[in-house]
Amino acid sequence: MTAQKAYDSDIKMKGDGSGSDQKQDSFNELWNSLKSTFPKLFGEATYKSWLSSLAFKEFTGGRFVIAAPTAFMRDWVSTNCSKKILELLQSLNPIVFQLDIVVDKTLKIEKMVATTPNGAGATLSSTSFAEGEVIGSRLEPRYVFDNFVVGQSNELAHAAALRVAESAEVHFNPLFIYGGVGLGKTHLMHAIAWHIKKCHPKRRVVYLSAEKFMYQFIRALRFKDMVSFKEKFRSVDVLMIDDFQFISGKESTQEEFFHTFNALVDQNHQIIISADKSPTDLPGLEERMRSRLGWGLVADIHPTTYELRLGILQSKTEQLNANIPVSVLEFLAHKIASNIRELEGALNRIVAHSSLVGGSITVESTQHVLRDILRANDRRVTIDEIQRKVAEHYHIKISDMHSAKRMRTIARPRQVAMYLSKALTEASLPEIGRKFGGRDHATVMHAVKKVKELMQEERNIGEDVDLLLKMLQS
Ligand code: ADP
Ligand code: MG
Repeated sequence: MTAQKAYDSDIKMKGDGSGSDQKQDSFNELWNSLKSTFPKLFGEATYKSWLSSLAFKEFTGGRFVIAAPTAFMRDWVSTNCSKKILELLQSLNPIVFQLDIVVDKTLKIEKMVATTPNGAGATLSSTSFAEGEVIGSRLEPRYVFDNFVVGQSNELAHAAALRVAESAEVHFNPLFIYGGVGLGKTHLMHAIAWHIKKCHPKRRVVYLSAEKFMYQFIRALRFKDMVSFKEKFRSVDVLMIDDFQFISGKESTQEEFFHTFNALVDQNHQIIISADKSPTDLPGLEERMRSRLGWGLVADIHPTTYELRLGILQSKTEQLNANIPVSVLEFLAHKIASNIRELEGALNRIVAHSSLVGGSITVESTQHVLRDILRANDRRVTIDEIQRKVAEHYHIKISDMHSAKRMRTIARPRQVAMYLSKALTEASLPEIGRKFGGRDHATVMHAVKKVKELMQEERNIGEDVDLLLKMLQS
């Protein structure tokens, strides 16, 4: 079949022409240029071991298909990188809506995976430790103390982690780090492991997720290998379990972990645990486990502050060697407050976008490239918040928002607050009325109309409203 024929029949079949050779070529090109940014985005080590062998297959019906040389590599990439890759593809070409990874055995493996001794696939099959080796899950090279930006929200967890990593003695056992998703728990865990590996190479460190721990345990049960399982975990100097919440509710795994835990504590060996909640709040934990977990130091990581987010963006920008105006970093720190992973994702996306499409990075281009993320992060203003801000602004009491007082110094701010509630929330007029001391919808409607008029007639009111709008939307 000629290229032209293939093109024609493709159009007939798919109707969107996305399967044509020409299109495929351009998608192949898109893939290659995107791939060239991977070493920066994912780190050299990850790129070499996992991503360099990936190849473009086809684009069809919104599906972007790439291939990996083995099923193992496909699985790894799909768990660890596919979300980010899809996001990048989508930011470059919005018609991509799905990323599929297939296995193509004819592909060359650019570099043997086996060269990473503690690769993600490594299982705890051996009880003999090489010096400086960390057994368990693969450690991310980027997750070191040097790359961890410290702020108010994470300083306790950071100080505790550093202390445990540096000191040969056991000060608190266990160290329990908890906090919301994407706030740096795994980063700190890896940083501890890297540090010990480097500075105390004789200490035997095992780092793994609670899920992997369970998997190892189940395997040992199945292959009647409990003796060596126990030996393995009870002979380590430092046991690190990430995402501990996964174990809660899983009875026998919890039971086994409990014994391992006690054995290690008895020998004065360090245990470090991370979870998304504190021991007291983790559901599905046995009481004795819960109390043991609180024995040592419990350090929480709070949600980020603006300053920390800006600091992280600055440090990331330096690492990426990217040229991004401060105004853009401030904009991102301001807008993306959910978690650090998302913040990094946003930064990677604008960097990738500008290196592929060209053009300088500005607040406008950022708004465009990140419109979906920004929309999701747009804070929903509540009526309570509006009442609070307006009361503050006019130096009246919040309770005056609900009161029946009619003097102008109070009634006017109340009307402004009603106007803002209409403008900034989805609430209906009766809902708004209810929030203002049970007023009816006609009163709210009148207030909205009145404020609109006043904004035209009186400069003060216009300026007040503008200012309040800015404060509430920031
Ligand atoms: P968690 O395990 O709490 O869900 P991670 O440790 O995976 O979160 O962190 C998510 C991302 O944010 C990682 O890429 C990590 O490097 C980054 N990160 C988190 N906290 C910091 C920090 N304080 N400084 C620099 N990067 C951070
Ligand atoms: Mg984590």
